[in-house]
Amino acid sequence: MPADNNVMEKLVSLAKRRGFVFQSSEIYGGLGSVWDYGPLGVELKKNLKERWWRSMVHEREDIEGLDAAILMHPKVWEASGHIAGFTDPLVDCKHCKNRFRADDPRIKGTPGQPDAQCPVCGSRGTLTAPRLFNLMFKTFMGPVEEAAAVVYLRPETAQGIYVNYLNVLQASRQKIPFGIAQIGKAFRNEITPGNFTFRTREFEQMEMQFFVKPGTDGEWFEFWKAQRMEWHYGLGIRREKLRFHQHTKEELAHYAKDAYDLEYEFPFGWHEFEGVHNRSDFDLSRHQQFSGKKLEYLDPATKERFIPYVVETSVGADRTALVVMCDAYREETVEGETRVVMRFHPAIAPLKAAVFPLVNKDGMPELARRIFDDLRRHFNVFYDDSGSIGRRYRRQDEAGTPYGITVDGQSVGDGTVTVRDRDTLLQERVAGDRLVSHLGDKLKM
Ligand SMILES: [Zn+2]
Repeated sequence: MPADNNVMEKLVSLAKRRGFVFQSSEIYGGLGSVWDYGPLGVELKKNLKERWWRSMVHEREDIEGLDAAILMHPKVWEASGHIAGFTDPLVDCKHCKNRFRADDPRIKGTPGQPDAQCPVCGSRGTLTAPRLFNLMFKTFMGPVEEAAAVVYLRPETAQGIYVNYLNVLQASRQKIPFGIAQIGKAFRNEITPGNFTFRTREFEQMEMQFFVKPGTDGEWFEFWKAQRMEWHYGLGIRREKLRFHQHTKEELAHYAKDAYDLEYEFPFGWHEFEGVHNRSDFDLSRHQQFSGKKLEYLDPATKERFIPYVVETSVGADRTALVVMCDAYREETVEGETRVVMRFHPAIAPLKAAVFPLVNKDGMPELARRIFDDLRRHFNVFYDDSGSIGRRYRRQDEAGTPYGITVDGQSVGDGTVTVRDRDTLLQERVAGDRLVSHLGDKLKM
């Protein structure tokens, strides 16, 4: 779909130009599939994380927060199955030294056979037979680089929750059913990453693990599926671009009883950005077995003992940011001119408003500055006094700023300003000293 690839190219270019996303270490030629968030991107991602945290932790009595470390005891990854099973079959080209997934569609022929052709250098017969390659990043703890000192950068944040399940349960005096929520970085040495920030080697997850009594897991699974879809609707994402995909028997992970992907229709196709999984009692049972510590729950009412089932909701913070950027990107014709506008939901927009003096004289800059100083104590706002007012509006359209506040000649006389709506382009006059509450009402989440 050439038209859609074009959209992705334009979005990547806008992301760099306007300071949403930069390639990591760009002056050194970049680091593969690692990205940095610029001034606007960090605000967007922070708003998404805060909104998630509020809906999961602050608005619910039955969920507690956690921030576990990235480095964990190596036994965790034996128990979780990642050391044995977190692998991809890969092939190497003996000629150009590139490495590919064995199922890379660009490979012609059968790797390991003389007919196979390398998709990069074009050599024939240079591809090795597939070998399993672990996707975890390995490093060494302490001063000695030896096998006993190997630790991993966590490939998922969930395990930090499971190993703390009893600590949180006891410290918070929660009862089952209850959940633990965490936002944090995870790392996977993906071999064929790509599609901008969609598949990256370092990424941030927002995960909530909900511990329930076996037998009630089916209901909770349905509950969380519905909740998570509603949350995405609340971000203003177009509903027709969102759908569930249920994992088939072949797709189900070894630990999962049932699993749904929440998918978005990106310009490069439908792809998963959140998973809702019924992980059964797999994780806690395994940790009980490997650690030798009892992880059973004693139901205070019935005196029953059981290992809880886990219903997991796991969403990528970077992928959600990419979803809202793709969904917000529009090209529109306004008064015969094309404008690019990022139609972010105001609650997640990086900048909430921009303040402009119409001209840099007649008392307008002084008043505009005063308004700006007042607003910045409440919202992330921007001041811009350079270029024509039309150009200044266009710059904020690209940044996705929902409101443009202009101080004009009338403002100096009566203290009112115009507030321009990014999407409708309508302008209303508002008293300068009422702006904080006026914007506050509009930005309510
Ligand atoms: Zn090659």
